[in-house]
Amino acid sequence: MAGIVGRAVLALTEFGPFRSTFTKTRPGRAVARRFVAGETLDEAMSVAATLVEAGCEVSLDHLGEHVTERSEAIRARDDYMACLDRIGESGLPANISVKLTQLGMGLDDELAAESLSELAARAAEVGTTVTVDMEESDHTESTISIYQEAQQRHGNLGIAVQSYLHRTKADLDRLIPLGGHIRICKGAYAEPESVAFQSGEDVDASFDSLLTLLMQAPEVKPAIASHDDGRLALAKKLIPQRKAPYEFQLLYGVRGALQRELVAAGYPLRIYVPYGVAWYPYLTRRMAERPANLLFFLRAVIGRR
Ligand SMILES: Cc1cc2nc3c(=O)[nH]c(=O)nc-3n(C[C@H](O)[C@H](O)[C@H](O)COP(=O)(O)OP(=O)(O)OC[C@H]3O[C@@H](n4cnc5c(N)ncnc54)[C@H](O)[C@@H]3O)c2cc1C
Repeated sequence: MAGIVGRAVLALTEFGPFRSTFTKTRPGRAVARRFVAGETLDEAMSVAATLVEAGCEVSLDHLGEHVTERSEAIRARDDYMACLDRIGESGLPANISVKLTQLGMGLDDELAAESLSELAARAAEVGTTVTVDMEESDHTESTISIYQEAQQRHGNLGIAVQSYLHRTKADLDRLIPLGGHIRICKGAYAEPESVAFQSGEDVDASFDSLLTLLMQAPEVKPAIASHDDGRLALAKKLIPQRKAPYEFQLLYGVRGALQRELVAAGYPLRIYVPYGVAWYPYLTRRMAERPANLLFFLRAVIGRR
């Protein structure tokens, strides 16, 4: 969740010269490499194989969002098809995470719905699943309705929900009966007070109550997506009572030691692995969550002058 400093970071990263310093310089790319597996599918598959070797499952995110042309949306679908083919060939325990605005939602919702359905069908053929990421709040309703249609048809999908939104408890009342996996996260965008809790304490309290609800729902597989020790402690307290599957999820490049600890303790863990050339917006959200990441970049750029 973007706090006051995080919002300032997001505003700064929108600034054109900052963006080009970041994307066109070696220090910028080096910071990106910490959070992004690479620009190609080959690089992503190689990172995925290493993570699997270390005891994790993986979710591959081919970066991109808010496409403005139908052709870009179709290319995004095709890129994900290629990713599913590679998952099938490799036999790795991996699925895909998809943003619906990358598949054309907001431009042509029907195209996005069709593409999601095609991806779910292909994922079923290779024995895996599709997770729908949750984006800005003006897309929540259409994301849920497109997801609902695909999940009712194919049954091998899951969706992310954000604890910072006031609406999420009501959304879970609709989503839980659909089964699938539900990723609970805090939420990564700058949202207004009218739709989202603004204080860290409120977002955490909401996360805890939604997580408790999900862990008591045998119809779904909860995916606990947080690096926050307080949230993880609650999850670990709830796990012994849960008789159905669940998993932890962490972002590639964030809290590597925690990743190893969870695996060593025998918890199921999936790492979210982003890749592709469109990494800048993803990276700005990682910097807003932890402005120290931005300082690291600025120091590297200044140090080179
Ligand atoms: C697997 C996964 C999938 C996600 N999918 C979505 C999604 O679909 N939609 C969405 O809006 N958000 C998504 N998020 C992002 C999420 O909403 C939060 O913005 C992000 O996880 C930070 O919140 P936190 O729960 O880790 O807690 P925080 O309180 O933000 O962080 C706890 C601790 O984790 C470490 N940490 C957290 N972020 C970083 C970082 N960027 N760099 C370095 N250290 C860090 C720090 O030590 C920090 O003190 C996802 C997160 C994960 C883990």
